[in-house]
Amino acid sequence: MNQGRVATAPGELISVEAHLADILATIRPLAPTELSLADAHGLVLAEDVAASYPLPLFDNSAMDGYAVRVEDIASASEENPVTLPVVAEVAAGDTGAYSLPEGTAIRIMTGAMLPYGTEAVVPLEWTDGGSARVAIRGKADYGHSVRLAGGDAKAGEVLVSEGTQLRPMHIAVIAAAGRGAVLVRPRPRVVVLSTGNELAEPGAPIIPGRIWDSNSFMLTAAAREAGCNAYRQAIVPDNPDEVLPAIEDQLVRADLMITTGGVSMGGEHDVVKAALQRLGTIAFRKVAMQPGMPQGFGTVALSAAPDPEPTARRSIIGRLANRGEVTEDPARPADEQVPIFTLPGNPVSAYVSFQVFARPAIGALQAYDGMGLEKISAELTGPLRSPPGRRSFLRGVLDRPRGRVTPLTGQGSHQVATLGKANALVIVPEWVVQMAEGESADVLVLP
Ligand code: AMP
Ligand code: MG
Repeated sequence: MNQGRVATAPGELISVEAHLADILATIRPLAPTELSLADAHGLVLAEDVAASYPLPLFDNSAMDGYAVRVEDIASASEENPVTLPVVAEVAAGDTGAYSLPEGTAIRIMTGAMLPYGTEAVVPLEWTDGGSARVAIRGKADYGHSVRLAGGDAKAGEVLVSEGTQLRPMHIAVIAAAGRGAVLVRPRPRVVVLSTGNELAEPGAPIIPGRIWDSNSFMLTAAAREAGCNAYRQAIVPDNPDEVLPAIEDQLVRADLMITTGGVSMGGEHDVVKAALQRLGTIAFRKVAMQPGMPQGFGTVALSAAPDPEPTARRSIIGRLANRGEVTEDPARPADEQVPIFTLPGNPVSAYVSFQVFARPAIGALQAYDGMGLEKISAELTGPLRSPPGRRSFLRGVLDRPRGRVTPLTGQGSHQVATLGKANALVIVPEWVVQMAEGESADVLVLP
C-alpha cells in the first residue's frame, strides 16, 4: 500500500477520504477477458462497442399495413377511400427482393424490408384490411411508418462505451449490433475469512462466551451483491500461526481478500494484525470514522506462501499441460499482489467498512468508479449525536418518497439487530457533534 501518501503518527487518525484514496491507488484493474454476451450482464465493459453496420441495417416497416406510393393515395379520405390491388405480402424475415409497381399496394408487416419503390406505409387501421384489394381511407406523406436504415445508429457509432457496467439495456444494444462476445473485466473473486476463538458456525449450538459468526456470511453476501464471485472460508482461530497460512491458502483463487476481527488495539489477541504486520505490505490505521475506526489494507503476495502443496500441484499441472492433457492452470504469477482488507470484528463496523471502502475497491478491480453507494439528502425526523473528529455513519430508516430519514436507537457497533432494521446510513461530518430534527443530512442508500 502507498504508505507514503499520507503520513500518520501512531494514534493519529487518518481521514476517510485519505484512506480510500490510498486503497484506490494500490488496486490494479483485472486484465480484460472476452466473454459471451450471455455472461456479460453486470460486468464492466473493457472496450467501446461500436455499430459495425447501420441500425437498422435496411429500410423497413414500422407498422403492419400496406406499402404504397404517396401519389397513389393522395386523394384518399374517410369519405372517398382509394382502392388499390394488393400484389404481394412481405413478412418480417422475408429476404426476397420485392418491388412495388405504380398503382398497387403490398401488404407489409412490422420489421419487414420495404419493397423497392415504397414511399410510405399506410397503417392497417386506416384500411379495410383487404387481401386482394385494399381500400385506404387516408393519405400518407413520404416516409410515413418507415424506419430508415441507420435511423437508430450509424455504422461506426459508439453504442456502449468502455467502463460501462452492463445493464439489460446495454446488453440489448450490443446484441442488436450483432456482437456475440465482448471484452469485459472479469467478475472479481473475493474470499472472506473471519477470525476469533469466540466464533461458532450458525446452526451449531453454543454456550455463553461464544457467538455465532455473522460477519463472514454478511460480507460474502455483500460482495456478491457488489457483483463478485465470493467465497466464505471456515472460521480461523485466534492463533497467529494459523492466520497467515489460512490467508495464503486462498490467494490463488482471490482477486481480493477480506478478513474480519483481530485488528483492534488490544495487543496479542489481535492476531490478524500481529501476523500481517510482519509482511510490511499492510497498513494498520485508525480512520476518523465511527463505526470502523481500526482499518487494515494492503497487499499479500503469493510468493509469501511457503506451503509446498500448491507448488507441487502447480508443477504437476504444468507437466500435464505440456503433454496437452489439461489446459494450464490460470494460477497467478508468484510475485503478484492480492489486495487485502482486514476489517474490524464488530459486525456493524465490518458492514460499514465494506460499504465505504471495499465496494469502491471492487469497482477499481474492474476499472469502474461507480461502485460507491448512492448519496442523497433527507430531513432528519429526530435529533442525533456524533463524536467530534470522526465521521459517523448512523443506521437509519429512509422514507424516500417523503425525503425523510429516522436515525435508529442502538447505534453500538455490536448492535446487529439495528443493522437489520436499517436501509440507510446517515452521515454526520467530522466537525458536527449534534444535529436537530428537521435538519437536512447526507444519507447513503444501502444496497
Ligand atoms: P475483534 O475485532 O476481533 O476484537 O472483535 C470485536 C468484536 O467483534 C468482538 O465482540 C467480537 O466477538 C466480534 N466479532 C468478531 N468477529 C465476529 C464475527 N465474525 N461475527 C460476529 N461478531 C464478531
Ligand atoms: Mg477477535
